[in-house]
Amino acid sequence: MFPAHGGPWVGWPVVDDPRARALLDAQRERLTTIETDLRTEGLVGESESEELAELSVADQHPADIGTETADRSRDLGMLEDVEGELRDIEEALARLQAGSYGRCEVCGKPIPDERLEANPTARYDIEHERGLEAGGLRRQSAPPQ
Ligand SMILES: [Zn+2]
Repeated sequence: MFPAHGGPWVGWPVVDDPRARALLDAQRERLTTIETDLRTEGLVGESESEELAELSVADQHPADIGTETADRSRDLGMLEDVEGELRDIEEALARLQAGSYGRCEVCGKPIPDERLEANPTARYDIEHERGLEAGGLRRQSAPPQ
């Protein structure tokens, strides 16, 4: 599973391993910084939410509570996004180790270099990414029959 340097993987039209690793490392560093910031804010939010819970039991200032809750869930949503991206990076690094990095998970074709440069955690080539996105959008926006 670990092709020797100079093995059959060399010459494939994919971002090479050191380049992919550098891209993934840079992205992981950026995301880890964002994650730390969000978690630091999240700790403050934690005690706020306890206060809010008491307030909401007492049924005071419901408008203020609504605003605070919206802010907090936005932060939580961002944290989930960042954690999801960090998982994608770990998985991409694992694929790099296994020698399957840079290939579409649907059809196995190499993912173009420019696509990996823009998105080093890409799992699909453009054809199948579009197909998946289009399928998702259809499901979400389909009007009731
Ligand atoms: Zn594909």
